[in-house]
Amino acid sequence: MSQQLLIGILAVQGGVTEHVRVMENLGHATRLVRRTEHLEGLDGIVLPGGESTTMSRLLRLSGMIQPLRDAITGGLPAFGTCAGMIMLADNVLDTREDAESLGAIDVTVRRNAFGRQKDSFETSLDFTGIDRPVDAVFIRAPQIEEVGADVQVLAQVDSAVVAARQDHVLVTSFHPELTEDHQVHEYFVQMVREASTRV
Ligand code: GLN
Repeated sequence: MSQQLLIGILAVQGGVTEHVRVMENLGHATRLVRRTEHLEGLDGIVLPGGESTTMSRLLRLSGMIQPLRDAITGGLPAFGTCAGMIMLADNVLDTREDAESLGAIDVTVRRNAFGRQKDSFETSLDFTGIDRPVDAVFIRAPQIEEVGADVQVLAQVDSAVVAARQDHVLVTSFHPELTEDHQVHEYFVQMVREASTRV
């Protein structure tokens, strides 16, 4: 049997329990991350969807921005969905001036980029590295407008980039935790395993 991992779920705001449920369904232990000391000993961390400006404010109030940034840029594998993706990005467009992000992946994202008609929708996506199409739920989703040279684009909707990876950091515009399709979480777990065999 493959080894159980300890996956942190950032739990300051947003869709926390859904990620806990998926990771536990996949056989992994989870820990809610609310304070800096909760980062200790994690194999990976998930940043959920929610509201990135609120998440940023709460992380700043709890003094967690820098410790989280240090942990992830120092090699802790991270997976951000929707607002979590916004939190991990280097550059964020259409956000509050005082919103901070963690600068963990070389992308520029635009918040709420799908406009009113497509505010929320569900679709099936081809995802590089995953065999079967992935069920994807989009809710007031951001999109990736620019990617750096070291970033791999993993999925697109029309021409909009909605999933990407740079080394040990994975981001999706959509919410795989809201479906019964756990392939993207399994993909992340695989990234975590690769990172742990590298050290
Ligand atoms: N629109 C939200 C934001 O900008 C993200 C929405 C979501 O996470 N479902 O943070």
